[in-house]
Amino acid sequence: MRPDILNPLFAELTSLKGIGAGLAKPLARLKLERVKDLLFHFPSYFVHRRAVDGLDDAQIGETIILSVDVLDHRSGGSARSPLRIHAVDARGDVVSLVFFGRNSGWAKKQLPVGEARRITGKLEAYGQERQIIHPEVVDGDHSVPMVEPVYPLADGISNRRIGDLVRHAMERAPAFPEWIEPSVKAKFDWPGWQEALIAAHQPDGAAGQARLAYDELFSNQLAYLLVRAASDKRRTFPIHGDGRLVDALTLPFALTGAQARSINEIEGDLQQERPMLRLLQGDVGSGKTAVALMAMLRAVESGRQAALLAPTEILARQHLASLRELAGSLPVQIEILTGRDKGRVRESTLMALADGSIDILIGTHAIFQEAVRYKALGLIVIDEQHRFGVSQRLLLANKAERPPHLLAMTATPIPRTLTLALYGEMDVSVLDELPPGRTPVETVVISDEKLPDIVAGIGRHIQAGGQAYWVCPLVEENDASDLAAAEERAAMLTLRFGNRVGLVHGRMKGPEKDAVMERFSSGELSLLVATTVIEVGVNVPNASLMIVEGADRFGLAQLHQLRGRVGRGSAKSTCVLLRGGSLSETSRARLALMRETNDGFRIAEEDLRLRGAGELMGTRQSGEEGFSVANEEQVRELIGYARDDARMLIERDGGLEGPRGEAARIALYLFERDSAVRTLRSG
Ligand code: ADP
Ligand code: MG
Repeated sequence: MRPDILNPLFAELTSLKGIGAGLAKPLARLKLERVKDLLFHFPSYFVHRRAVDGLDDAQIGETIILSVDVLDHRSGGSARSPLRIHAVDARGDVVSLVFFGRNSGWAKKQLPVGEARRITGKLEAYGQERQIIHPEVVDGDHSVPMVEPVYPLADGISNRRIGDLVRHAMERAPAFPEWIEPSVKAKFDWPGWQEALIAAHQPDGAAGQARLAYDELFSNQLAYLLVRAASDKRRTFPIHGDGRLVDALTLPFALTGAQARSINEIEGDLQQERPMLRLLQGDVGSGKTAVALMAMLRAVESGRQAALLAPTEILARQHLASLRELAGSLPVQIEILTGRDKGRVRESTLMALADGSIDILIGTHAIFQEAVRYKALGLIVIDEQHRFGVSQRLLLANKAERPPHLLAMTATPIPRTLTLALYGEMDVSVLDELPPGRTPVETVVISDEKLPDIVAGIGRHIQAGGQAYWVCPLVEENDASDLAAAEERAAMLTLRFGNRVGLVHGRMKGPEKDAVMERFSSGELSLLVATTVIEVGVNVPNASLMIVEGADRFGLAQLHQLRGRVGRGSAKSTCVLLRGGSLSETSRARLALMRETNDGFRIAEEDLRLRGAGELMGTRQSGEEGFSVANEEQVRELIGYARDDARMLIERDGGLEGPRGEAARIALYLFERDSAVRTLRSG
């Protein structure tokens, strides 16, 4: 249960004075729902006001307070042009006060012609004139703060109103006992929580804000470690395996050193009674499938079943095909179950799973629905982990009474700092070596004005028996206009290449999509126009040319994933990145990096540097691990300290029962890591 001291902070915002249902809505749009949300709603910047005697004393761009006499009101001709009110200062210099839309009615009343008023606003230049847009009138009882916070813009609620609410919320913020390790706190010279909070809402509050950022990272790391500790306490069936499958397996290649090392690490985990929680990180094409297969065969050898969870239907089917091929003539039953399987097929799969005749089940999330019963599930493999949220992976791991071992895989290379922030409860194996004999994909960046040349190039490529992908950008998922663009592109290419062109996109139904993919992989289609649905996993080795339209609109990690679809066969592959006309410096740098390197880790590092962790993390998973206080730099700088701090605390007081443990519980609740606290009792 949440400690009572936190109750005022977790109250609904409507419990604050003056917040009714009307305000609750615009606040909810800002993700402000409870009192504590306001505490962490920091100003974007501060306005500093200065009282001046005349306009000539002020700089353009400055926010001033000034006494004026109102000269005249001039409404523009049309309804949409603004109201301009002319006013003079004490020296006779003129300033235009500009009001748009509904504000003009208010302005006419507040600034009557011939009257003196005191106003405040930001002085701007407008041609030869000086103007202030939407000045405030500060006469009478209204006084205006000389330094005022400006909060992120919101519809339906004024900045000052938000400021008031934040202040009300702050009044409810209690002093908490300290949860930060004293040496860390001293090292950074951080204030206590309450003081930090107050500082973070004021100018020059960097140290306060940093401390709160640390609190967030600390609770993130502490939560991971608690979850891990709880998982470690559980007992599962150790998987030894007698070698009858693994030894009989004949792969068409020798394992890379990295694969062998990872398999070793995994086998070491599997032999424990403690359930494995391991992340296998390996760039596109590094051979994660073979590693997963070995692990799953070990499970089967020891009389247990394995399940492989894929993010998409296409990928599940591809895994089925490649695992069956790799497993060759081994006596293992590999089947598939997806949301598409209905009726008798589904029933018979479920029965075979329950009676143990299926050894390895591949599928989408359908394989973990309530109705799906395994005879003896010993290992879960999750492909493309970043497509699934944290709660999902924990739920998976915790469903069975004896939790299965868990192997998560990701092709998105993640810088180490982010691995801690995103997968902090997992052990990590890295495939940092590509199988030999790969010719790196050559990447070129070309202006989209050269489209006709590109199309001609594709013609020659297809003529020579090659296959190609054409990727259309999908800027926002579910955006119908992107789909229309892809359809239009497909139509244009069909005009040129006839029925050798196919189209796949995210709105297609599974069977439709698979049918097109199948025709592409069998060679019936030469050119596949696709939105980013082909991003993960698709494997057609004969396809050695990829065109990415609007490449500057993709994230680097995503481009890297896309590019991984080519370069899978023996032929030299090319990836053409088509860019728009005017590019920002950053876009230019990013595309240049793609041209320069095929190293996924380097790309991830640079992407992080160029775009910031928030965005990188946002595209990576469902947002649960996103940080609301800590920024990218702080994640990098502080996460290691937070990790050590959390680890030391758990070593000393695993139940969080001592004074610092109690305090740390408060931090966990404050950042809504309730499920981590719950592990304390169940353990
Ligand atoms: P990913 O890590 O992207 O899932 P895959 O497991 O799909 O990579 O492997 C990519 C390709 O490399 C497959 O065709 C696979 O058969 C092949 N491969 C995997 N391991 C090796 C190896 N050690 N030597 C040569 N080829 C390999
Ligand atoms: Mg894969």
